[in-house]
Amino acid sequence: MDSAEFEDWSKRIAEWSAQYRDSLRDRPVRPNVKPGETFKEIPVSPPEDGAAFSSIFAEFERLIPDAMTHWQHPRFFAYFPANAALPSVLAEQIVSTIAAQCMLWQTSPAATELETRMIDWLRQAMGLPEGWRGVIQDSASSATLSAVLTMRERVLDFKGIHTGLSGHKAPRIYASAQAHSSVDKAIWVAGIGQDNLVKIPTRDDFGMDPDALRAAIAEDRRKGLQPAGVILCVGGTGIGACDPVEAILQIAAEENLYTHVDAAWAGSAMICPEQRSHWKGVESADSIVFNPHKWLGAQFDCSVQFLKDPTDQLKTLTLRPDYLETPGFDDVVNYSEWTIPLGRRFRALKLWFLIRYYGLEGLRQRIRNHIEWAKEAEQLIRETEGLEVVTPCSFSLFSFACSEGDAATAALLERINKDGRTYLTQTQHQGRFVIRFQVGQFDCTREDVLAGVAAIRALHEG
Ligand SMILES: *Cc1c(COP(=O)(O)O)cnc(C)c1O
Repeated sequence: MDSAEFEDWSKRIAEWSAQYRDSLRDRPVRPNVKPGETFKEIPVSPPEDGAAFSSIFAEFERLIPDAMTHWQHPRFFAYFPANAALPSVLAEQIVSTIAAQCMLWQTSPAATELETRMIDWLRQAMGLPEGWRGVIQDSASSATLSAVLTMRERVLDFKGIHTGLSGHKAPRIYASAQAHSSVDKAIWVAGIGQDNLVKIPTRDDFGMDPDALRAAIAEDRRKGLQPAGVILCVGGTGIGACDPVEAILQIAAEENLYTHVDAAWAGSAMICPEQRSHWKGVESADSIVFNPHKWLGAQFDCSVQFLKDPTDQLKTLTLRPDYLETPGFDDVVNYSEWTIPLGRRFRALKLWFLIRYYGLEGLRQRIRNHIEWAKEAEQLIRETEGLEVVTPCSFSLFSFACSEGDAATAALLERINKDGRTYLTQTQHQGRFVIRFQVGQFDCTREDVLAGVAAIRALHEG
């Protein structure tokens, strides 16, 4: 493709993109397709000869958009949001054109330095102390795995990376029953094993019980096991549960355990000072992850890991083969040494565009609106005969169910999602099937939230 054709198609795709975003309110949030429908439309074998881009694009338009679940739809209330605010989309267009590998300072000087600055902007925006540093990762799963590996190596005196895990006592890691599945997976992948992830019971508010944590650590020490770290949850995925951060971190400090806070979704809300009571005491943690690609508005992927002191993670993950040496550049940050993958995308640009375009005040206003509208939706569901709120708003997430029981709730969810006006997902809570409702899509309005609730009510009554 030559640059003239590239320019022409870039313009056409920009036009298509603007129309796509404008069309979202009129589309069903989740497409009405069956498994295999797209697959059978794609030729079985790859083409021997090239094709005009116009025919490629026509095929795309015919097959793909109508068979997608529209995550940028303003009535998307499922899972958590994966926002892609338009200024961050523009940044990604540039990034995909420049296509740099941001593994070392030398391979990406401006990207590396912008990343350092963006991490510090976010640190200030969230009220974290000076001196904290950080890195942009692809996902919270990767950041949590990095932290778990650091917990493992710290307790093994950094010998595991050389000798492997056999011959060492297994590290023990503690998290609440509300912890995300990425914690379990990190434990598997780190070679620690599910049996060494101790799920601590929660209190009535679904936060980790500090007394139970203390008892579990003491029990492990008595048995000669090796406590290594605690993973805390602020805004859990199921119902938005928050661990009592200050109390848990206090215990971890007394026990000399490494700590990681998973605030993948709710971390974005911490740009609003009034939300910070949810993680009071967080400055005593070692590591925090939050995903600007969820609630904040930065196009996926963009997960920020803050580190109070990166030394232990660097000792765990830094590997400097000859071909990555950069003679003469010793005092620079090479972010690939902070993370598991070597190759890294230029993710800081979208944060820069996003924060500059909206300003922190613009971003805060969105989050405040979402929280307020979620509370309004919760109240309307509460007032609906036959529906009950099961867990109240945590940030902008609540859950509800049919009074009649699980079968009725599951049937209602299916009707809602077939209908297409809105899209919701479920979780299990205390043995009960509940429907989650979270408000967080970047462009959603109060009317969208009310329309979502109206659809739920109509389908419940109908
Ligand atoms: C979304 C989420 C994760 C996983 O995030 P990825 O970036 O998709 O890996 C982990 N923990 C919590 C609390 C989440 O909400």
